[in-house]
Amino acid sequence: MLSTSCLSGRSKASVEATRRTRDAKRAESLYRVILITLLRNYRVRSSKCATLGEPSGQGVEHLFLSDVMGRKALIVVGGLLALVLLPTLAWNGLVQQGNVSAFDMLLRLSPARPGSARESVVLLAIDDETVRRYGPLPLNRAIVAEALEHIAIAEPRVLVVDVLLSERTRKQDDASLSSALSRFPKVVLAVALEATQDNKQPQWITPLPEFQSRAFALGHVHFEPDRDGLARTLLLTKANADNRYWALAFEAFRAALGTQGPPTEDAKELKVESRLVPAPDSNGRLLWIHYNGPEGTFRRISLASVLDGHAPASSFAGKIVILGVTAQGAGDRVYTPFSSGLGMSGIEIHANIFSTLFDGAYLSPLSSPLEFLSLIAVAALVGAAAWWRQGKLLAPAAITGVTLTPVLSYWMLRAGIIVPVASWLVIEVAASLVGFLAQTRFIRHRLSEAIEGRQDYAFRLQAVAHEIKTPLTAIHLSSQLITEPAVPEHKKEEIAQRIHKEAGRLSGVVTTFLDVERISAGVLKLQKRPVDLSSLVADAIERARLLALKKSIGIEQDLEPEVIAADAELLQFAIYNLLVNAVKYSPDGSSIRITLRSDGQAACLAVADQGCGIESSEQQRIFERFYRSKRHRDDPTGGSGVGLALVKEIVTQHGGRIEVESKAGQGSTFRVFLPREAIHENKTTSSANR
Ligand code: ADP
Repeated sequence: MLSTSCLSGRSKASVEATRRTRDAKRAESLYRVILITLLRNYRVRSSKCATLGEPSGQGVEHLFLSDVMGRKALIVVGGLLALVLLPTLAWNGLVQQGNVSAFDMLLRLSPARPGSARESVVLLAIDDETVRRYGPLPLNRAIVAEALEHIAIAEPRVLVVDVLLSERTRKQDDASLSSALSRFPKVVLAVALEATQDNKQPQWITPLPEFQSRAFALGHVHFEPDRDGLARTLLLTKANADNRYWALAFEAFRAALGTQGPPTEDAKELKVESRLVPAPDSNGRLLWIHYNGPEGTFRRISLASVLDGHAPASSFAGKIVILGVTAQGAGDRVYTPFSSGLGMSGIEIHANIFSTLFDGAYLSPLSSPLEFLSLIAVAALVGAAAWWRQGKLLAPAAITGVTLTPVLSYWMLRAGIIVPVASWLVIEVAASLVGFLAQTRFIRHRLSEAIEGRQDYAFRLQAVAHEIKTPLTAIHLSSQLITEPAVPEHKKEEIAQRIHKEAGRLSGVVTTFLDVERISAGVLKLQKRPVDLSSLVADAIERARLLALKKSIGIEQDLEPEVIAADAELLQFAIYNLLVNAVKYSPDGSSIRITLRSDGQAACLAVADQGCGIESSEQQRIFERFYRSKRHRDDPTGGSGVGLALVKEIVTQHGGRIEVESKAGQGSTFRVFLPREAIHENKTTSSANR
């Protein structure tokens, strides 16, 4: 205090000047700090592909397919694709073949079941050795009878004969066989449907009456090969117009369970004793054969070795004995999922059917609705992976899906459920491909967004620099001038005041720019209060007058008093921008006229100049961010093309609008309309607040 009071008027002014020079320097370093901060911010945001200045303020990191296509459109397109593509992809012949081939492969991979049926069954084979030693085929019935007599001693549980005994041979041979059959407690004999020559009803070929009289049951021996010729299923019952027979292995199953009467049937299953066999009537009582393994899985004894005493009768004790021909020349072979080159012998297949029934190892494919649902679920899972977290999960999900599908299918098969492996895989691959394509499209979109964002931000940066630089230059020059000894004291005082004013303006520009940024991002709410519009405009005119003076441009004003609810800072920023443009784009010595009128609804501010004007094709474009008219694009005085966009933004935020009327070479008039009624609401709010 003391030291200050001791200073003379002159040295007081020079101390003041030094202080202001220091302020100017501070302001300059503040400018640098802001630029550096913005630059840093720019790097971070552009690396995140920020869409700076988007009205929603949302970064691209939140953008995904839904933003590219529209969420609803995506759901509709996805749904339609699923409806059209799923059936086409999943149910065409090729994929269906893939499904059964996958089933075969998984079945081959499954280990043989340790169920009781495998230990209970013995195949008595009329094999190549038997044919070589006791042949030819059909084998003499007396020889077969001799072997059966031999094993009957051991009391097998059931004898199943997979040989058609429909034709007569020598009387004593037939009699020996009939007598041998009578030694077994339960005999199941084979019947077959034979197509008649006149193409009428197929007829059953049944055993001779003397054999039938020994039989517990007669069973058909037909398998149902698929289109690829492999026997995976059989019909448990087959009928012509006269008679219906159960399958040979099914009858063996009934005999093994000791049942007497026929099975109880309902729509979904058959009941034998307490056992339920899932074989719906709707598909003709179809049974999937759960093969235990390849040929040779079941114990097999050659008829020849029984005859020559090598096979002890005890091997047949309590067993289900299936007698049939396995000799290769006999042709009684069918291809199965386990066949490679040579088909499987009939008795081995019957043994597999018997073990499916006896072990209760039933297989059932997914029902059609369930299969469809499973396909939708697979497609939906892949779709969800493509949707979530910008599709980062898509590749892992696709790989996991394709790897897990066979594993899951294997375990489901072991639980008795046949799944459409190929259909699942096809849908997974197709859905992943669609996802990847959509991703590519999305990435391209994101890239162009990023590039736009980058350009956008670069322009903005220029705008900030431009807005800050003008007052800064004034401060810089004035602070130099003030230290000149030649400058009179009263001028120094004036210059110091100018420096002070420009420094204040500088900080105002920065604040305003940041506010506009936040308004664009929807973050900042306007700080509305009753504002005397005429004095606000007058203030802006005063600021612009200095610039106008340099170009000897006269400014006329005709302002009616008008009070509206507005954010004074932002509105002044907007009006000042219009005035600066009018000066900037007008020739020396011209004049600018500013009027403020009110029409009851809105206050209208008009800024009319006699400048270069704007081509009609560009009159709307000048309000776009960074748009500069062709005439001024290479203007050395510079400009960023952002000012009018910000003016429009501010006016719009105030509920108003901006228009331009211009003729190239004759000047332009910018009109800003601001609603008046807001003031009344605002007054109410203000008094309420008080
Ligand atoms: P800047 O002036 O920094 O280029 P603006 O957004 O304020 O950015 O203006 C956009 C463009 O509109 C300018 O480049 C100029 O071509 C044109 N423009 C604006 N105001 C006028 C005016 N009063 N007279 C003629 N052209 C103008």
